[in-house]
Amino acid sequence: ESTEIINCKEKILNLSKEISDLLKTTGGLADTLGKKVYVVGGFVRDLLLNRENFDIDFVIEGDGISFAERLNETLSGTLMTHKEFGTASITLANGSVLDIVSARREYYEYPAALPTVEKSSIWNDLFRRDFTINCMAIQINIANFGKLIDFFGGLEDIRNKRIRVLYNLSFIEDPTRIFRAIRFASRLDFEIEEQTKSFIMEAIKDHMLTKVTNDRVREEMAQIFTDKGVSKSIFLMKSFNIFTAIHSDLNITNETITKIDNLWSTIEKFHRFDNKKIDIQLLVIMQLFHSFPLNKLSEAIQKFLNNKQGIVNIQIALKEKEKVYTSLLKDDIDKYTIYSILHNHCLESLIFYYNDCTEYYIKHYIMYYMINLKNIKLKVTGRDLLNLGIQPGPIYKKILDTILKSKVMGEIYDEHDEIEYANKLYNELKEIKDV
Ligand code: ATP
Repeated sequence: ESTEIINCKEKILNLSKEISDLLKTTGGLADTLGKKVYVVGGFVRDLLLNRENFDIDFVIEGDGISFAERLNETLSGTLMTHKEFGTASITLANGSVLDIVSARREYYEYPAALPTVEKSSIWNDLFRRDFTINCMAIQINIANFGKLIDFFGGLEDIRNKRIRVLYNLSFIEDPTRIFRAIRFASRLDFEIEEQTKSFIMEAIKDHMLTKVTNDRVREEMAQIFTDKGVSKSIFLMKSFNIFTAIHSDLNITNETITKIDNLWSTIEKFHRFDNKKIDIQLLVIMQLFHSFPLNKLSEAIQKFLNNKQGIVNIQIALKEKEKVYTSLLKDDIDKYTIYSILHNHCLESLIFYYNDCTEYYIKHYIMYYMINLKNIKLKVTGRDLLNLGIQPGPIYKKILDTILKSKVMGEIYDEHDEIEYANKLYNELKEIKDV
């Protein structure tokens, strides 16, 4: 075990000076108070995996809140305390969040309930956690700085890339752990250990997922859908029959999973021509529902998302999809037709249309639009028309639309062309009226 002690100390000292100093300061403060203090959970897991993690959870034996207050006198961050749970958090100027809890024991009164809190030791703190890889602590008191506390075999599971629960009722006590197991397996590229897998299947068979509130399901989905490992997560959710448990009509095929896997490279293609931030969660949901019955869409999407605008965008994308595809496949299509078909759609819809279809020409036209047409804007404005002596009215829209069409078709180029053309159009329209 002594080599592990040295490893963690070295690993911590190899982190940024900011973080290693922070841990030393915290350990030093606990020493002066005569308390034991540990970093725990995700930070320890990521430290052992050499993954960056700037959010640190501390467990202190004793009162977490007064310790956090003392610690923040040195750190000068923003302190928040949660008296009912005996926990506190400090947000540092650089955005890192430190959570400080008292070592405690938790009881679960009945499945999926909020835990009741009672003070206890580090073992109890670690035992209430979800997976062995998240159940390790590192002591940071100066004399034991870097000592790994691993009661449940977390280090071995990290080495074997395994997600494992501590006991068989874990998913019954808290079914949201099912989503967490899937998320960690995908994100870290770990396997869910066989017995843990069978506990998940039993919990799902016993309808434990119905005990999770819709809000919690949506929170978990948001995390799963925005992670790079999303297609593996979706594969796992499918293999556990989670989608059909969420909505009986949601039958995810392997083809859908492949398309979700392709999303990342499609997004990269689009990023070359538009670096606007893309809502990946929307895209994943669009792709998940790509062949879902339209009349049941609205009710089903709400199981995954609770954002009105987002839901509307997804619905529009799915309802318009076939129309967009058929219009783009018509013969003799010109630039302005491509523009008209696509320019009202949000970037996520365009990416989805590109990713979802298999037709070469459709992909080609969407990409052509992205590269050559999407950013075409008129320079000429209503004010310019006024300066030409044109009376404001519906004629403005007519003129501006006609100029835009010419510009998209590549017949005119710059502001000078536009104004000249506006004048010409005005005179033509005037003549028609005069006649
Ligand atoms: P991430 O990088 O996603 O933040 P994390 O492990 O820090 O990973 P959190 O959700 O912030 O994830 O949880 C912090 C710690 O709290 C976990 O490492 C785990 O030990 C514990 N934990 C979180 N959720 C649960 C749960 N539902 N049941 C048991 N323990 C949990």
